[in-house]
Amino acid sequence: MKSQEVRAQFLRFFEEKMHKIVPSAPMVIKDDPTLMFTNAGMNQFKEFFLGIGTPQSHRVADTQKCLRVSGKHNDLEEVGRDTYHHTMFEMLGNWSFGDPAGKGNGYFKKEAISWAWELLTEVYGIPKENLYVTVFEGSTDADNLALDQEAMDFWKAIIPEDRILMGDKKDNFWEMGDQGPCGPCSEIHVDIRSEEEKQKVSGASLVNQDHPQVVEIWNLVFMQYNRKADGSLESLPAKHVDTGMGFERLCMVLQGKQSNYDTDVFTPIIREIEAISGVDYGKQEETDIAIRVIADHLRAVSFSIADGQLPSNTGAGYVIRRILRRAIRYGFTFLGLKQPFMHLLVKELRYMAQHAFPELKVQQQLIENVIQEEERSFLKTLEQGLGLLDAALKNTEGQTLSGDKAFELYDTFGFPIDLTQLIASEKGFGVDTERFALRMEEQKNRSRKATETSTGDWTVIGTDQVQEFVGYDYLETDIKIQKYRKV
Ligand code: ATP
Ligand code: MG
Ligand code: MG
Ligand code: MG
Repeated sequence: MKSQEVRAQFLRFFEEKMHKIVPSAPMVIKDDPTLMFTNAGMNQFKEFFLGIGTPQSHRVADTQKCLRVSGKHNDLEEVGRDTYHHTMFEMLGNWSFGDPAGKGNGYFKKEAISWAWELLTEVYGIPKENLYVTVFEGSTDADNLALDQEAMDFWKAIIPEDRILMGDKKDNFWEMGDQGPCGPCSEIHVDIRSEEEKQKVSGASLVNQDHPQVVEIWNLVFMQYNRKADGSLESLPAKHVDTGMGFERLCMVLQGKQSNYDTDVFTPIIREIEAISGVDYGKQEETDIAIRVIADHLRAVSFSIADGQLPSNTGAGYVIRRILRRAIRYGFTFLGLKQPFMHLLVKELRYMAQHAFPELKVQQQLIENVIQEEERSFLKTLEQGLGLLDAALKNTEGQTLSGDKAFELYDTFGFPIDLTQLIASEKGFGVDTERFALRMEEQKNRSRKATETSTGDWTVIGTDQVQEFVGYDYLETDIKIQKYRKV
């Protein structure tokens, strides 16, 4: 089943169940101080969950463009390393907005669960024995929440009990951000392991924390609470359903693939990267990661520009700039792409443009021009910085590059410390990261900004040095990168 058909069937299914099909909200959010990018389908409906405003319909479905690179949902470090987390992805969703008066045709757990099951097993034809579900087990912390018995009972009626797994707060209590509507959820996971692999591990503990090929595809959230600014929970005036299914993951399952990148959502982009770089996908882990990162980041950047958010030096624009630069660096370092190449890939988004997101088609020229311009200027900077780093390493006595030099590279050429470390380590040098952190701290104190966004920027891959994650280091007030210590 082609991806466009997967999407269309989802919408058709819920339309038949009396849902109003609405367009995706923009991915870049302009007027919400608590959120920079849409990170879930429910964002645009926040007000209805809080009982402010009246929806046109109590049942709604759509596909939503989401970006998870900052705040509570930040998947940047996973992207490319695994095969099912993206920065930008489509979230298919259906909603019920309850109303305190009980009017309208809202629904709750029973319908949400049975329709999800019907769609997956009867319409899409996923074998029932490949599905697992999770239920919120409750919590003993300050929130003191009970087990979601209701969801448990509905699931028991349709799936064998040994495939219903208990989930803790981290996985089975959904929150949009530090504040806002939230509630317990039930996730649906699909086992895409080969028969051979299944022989090796069996049993009921299989969800995607335990095995990368038992993948979460759909989350059914039961909105019952609002998290207030002081951290406490209050009951919402009415109960709502909020579901989100990863479109690319669903395509992977239905197309019988083991990776989102092997579906028709990504293969045209990957073929083009192969053609431009002369590097084949599927040959080597290091170049595969780079190819996936580039294919992924292309979508994040293109959708952002189509939404009117150009790369810039502040806020959302800065996040986008760093995502684009990250892709350029992966191409530069691992695929030998020393000339602008990202803009040549934009045309490969044509199926998405044709079937769901016409803004990509309308803005194609602008997207290409903006990306190309960014590529040109960044590649120039990169060349200069590399030259400087090279010279600095030659002049370094001993095997440690000074923290001041690393800081200069960061400050003047935008080289994050991990890129400097990567290049230095390739030449057998370490970096004085303590001194570097000190200089950063000084700079941070000089320019304090209010917004906090987390965008780890450069990931070290393919070096044989073992590194241990030791926490985050704020490199700038609005950027945080991962801090590593050699072990
Ligand atoms: P995961 O545990 O895999 O990170 P999640 O629990 O954070 O997923 P939800 O917030 O429940 O995800 O989002 C609903 C659905 O969106 C998920 O079930 C998944 O199919 C999809 N999804 C979530 N994050 C991503 C991502 N980074 N890339 C692609 N799809 C995603
Ligand atoms: Mg996640
Ligand atoms: Mg999850
Ligand atoms: Mg989830």
